Amino acid sequence: MKIRVLGCNGAIGNSGKGGGTTALLVDHDVLIDAGTGVAVLGDDELARIDHVFLTHSHLDHMAYLPLMIDAVGEVRNEAHNEPLIVHASRATLDILHAHVFNNLIWPDFTRIPSADAPGVRFEALEVGERVVLNGRSIVALPACHSVPAMGYALCSDTASLAFSGDTTTNPAFWSAIATLPGLRHVIVETAFRDEQIALAHAAHHYCPRLIAEDLRGVEMQAELLISHLKPPHGAQILEELRAALPDIALRALIDGEALDV
Ligand SMILES: [Zn+2]
Ligand SMILES: [Zn+2]
Repeated sequence: MKIRVLGCNGAIGNSGKGGGTTALLVDHDVLIDAGTGVAVLGDDELARIDHVFLTHSHLDHMAYLPLMIDAVGEVRNEAHNEPLIVHASRATLDILHAHVFNNLIWPDFTRIPSADAPGVRFEALEVGERVVLNGRSIVALPACHSVPAMGYALCSDTASLAFSGDTTTNPAFWSAIATLPGLRHVIVETAFRDEQIALAHAAHHYCPRLIAEDLRGVEMQAELLISHLKPPHGAQILEELRAALPDIALRALIDGEALDV
């Protein structure tokens, strides 16, 4: 499967270079998170998305979900009359229902155009659960964030990619991905610099020192691709990561790049 990075930044802006927040497109039909990176897709590409897997309810990971449901609902209905399926933990889906699709912030698309034929269907997932879509496996991984959260593994027959989502100290993530077949890429967030470690603890994000602690004694062959870098400190965060993890290959994930698994 092909993974296209639509957005991987920790905030919008990126000095006017068009960086968006988290969204990964898998082949043409599966979206992992729906942050502002989704804005690079045209209407025809949006209409081909059948499944969205959300890591958590924070705006930088779902800002485009309500808008894309509205934008492509009619086209999708005419084309295959199937709702868009949103997969996430029960807790995340409940938050979205209560605080976004509540007929105040946005219509409740789980009930319109009608309860029988809605624009979107929510499907709850638990950590460890696997969804198989045309031979591609998507497995929910543990995450530890300020709201209920999970990461995802994307597995073909021969290779895997792991994505941490937003998380802080999370040994269970590294144990879980150690068993994935042919682990090729690990996308892991690092939102803060080491001098912001108190903020990393408070906001439940990684800083380089916290990743290094989690990786002590862990055998890691796959390259780490760092996401959720907060402009303008990306270069410093990478420098700190390289110093803390001298034996592990790592680089920044790049908006627009494609990865294969
Ligand atoms: Zn978050
Ligand atoms: Zn985030």
